[in-house]
Amino acid sequence: MRIDIIGGGPAGMYFAILRKKANPADEITVYERNGPDDTFGWGVVFSGKTLRNLRAADAESHAEITRAFEAWDNVDVVHHDSKISIHGNSFSGIARLQLLKILQRRCEQLGVELRFNTEVPDVDSLRAGCDLLLAADGVNSTARKQFSDQFLPSLDFRPNRYIWYGTNRLFHGLTLTFRENAAGVFAAHSYKFNQTTSTFIVECDEQTWANAGFSALSDADTRVYLEKVFAKDLDGQRLLSNNSKWINFLLVKNEKWHFENVVMIGDALHTAHFSIGSGTKLALEDAIALFECFERKENIAAALQEFEETRKPVIEEYQAAAYESMRWFENARQYMNQSPIELAYTLMTRSGRVNYEDLQKRDPAFIAEYETEVGSRQ
Ligand SMILES: Cc1cc2nc3c(=O)[nH]c(=O)nc-3n(C[C@H](O)[C@H](O)[C@H](O)COP(=O)(O)OP(=O)(O)OC[C@H]3O[C@@H](n4cnc5c(N)ncnc54)[C@H](O)[C@@H]3O)c2cc1C
Repeated sequence: MRIDIIGGGPAGMYFAILRKKANPADEITVYERNGPDDTFGWGVVFSGKTLRNLRAADAESHAEITRAFEAWDNVDVVHHDSKISIHGNSFSGIARLQLLKILQRRCEQLGVELRFNTEVPDVDSLRAGCDLLLAADGVNSTARKQFSDQFLPSLDFRPNRYIWYGTNRLFHGLTLTFRENAAGVFAAHSYKFNQTTSTFIVECDEQTWANAGFSALSDADTRVYLEKVFAKDLDGQRLLSNNSKWINFLLVKNEKWHFENVVMIGDALHTAHFSIGSGTKLALEDAIALFECFERKENIAAALQEFEETRKPVIEEYQAAAYESMRWFENARQYMNQSPIELAYTLMTRSGRVNYEDLQKRDPAFIAEYETEVGSRQ
């Protein structure tokens, strides 16, 4: 089979790896507009479950990924200068660039052709020359735009602003930090992803963003401002920019996932708010799901149909939980009068995927502390 893939991100390369490994006679080409070392963002997060899926799908790249990553089991919530730790949550982080390099090497080893610095401007002419065209071209997907009458996308720009930084301050665990100043409320999502660096995403509502005057601040001045907001948390370390810009989260859904020989996966197809786990996890798991459909079905049309039918409910459930989590952060202001332990409890249960019983199993000491405080007020 001849397979063309637009996008050398995690989704496109991982599908190429799985398919080429199982079907060495396939001719697979990945078109990527950037160079092999260009990337945006810092670290990406995986849960223990995702890692098990990666191990089952491709033990070789899984071994390299797990050699390079940083693991932790705590979520820390910082509020009113107190830190509450909740244990029993298995996560790990790896630099996005390192992950891409691992996947690039694996593609090359298996004989997938990677064409870097190659923009695909016209998706229609590319699809005419291949059996399967995989649009793994990210959140601003060209394919989704060019075939919007087929995919019927819905694009929802959310009101909060967020900006993706790195820092050399190490956050040992997924740390959610809340700080207030005269402008409003700021939340930071941070975690270390190697021995020297953490991701540090700052999120705030529209009003806070406008009050702080960020539209008139340069990149350097924005960092100076936020370093002051999070001075107690950064412990003297700077915020590191990597083409970092304020963005509004874009919630992407598509009514149809495929037509004829074209299918989308990853961020092109759907997004889920970063507070619930990374888009990278969903991108890789999409690639696994699509690959498995091709293993089960005889022809392309049947495989793509099966992919849409079986994967869509999984993604819809995930997006529903991510939506609740996103809404929590959009309304963070209303929770700021809670005590640190109450805030930690509301945060842990915000998406509806974790409840009281789960927390009791994961970290009985946390629940005991919560009960002591909440019970003492009743
Ligand atoms: C600024 C920013 C920073 C981020 N940082 C992080 C982070 O630190 N941690 C994290 O977990 N997630 C991060 N994310 C989210 C994460 O990147 C995605 O959820 C995940 O990478 C999705 O994988 P994907 O393969 O579907 O898409 P992507 O990784 O976006 O890959 C799509 C690829 O397609 C290429 N492409 C697009 N159009 C064309 C075209 N027409 N021709 C050729 N190539 C094309 C792009 O250059 C890109 O490399 C970030 C997102 C953004 C926008």
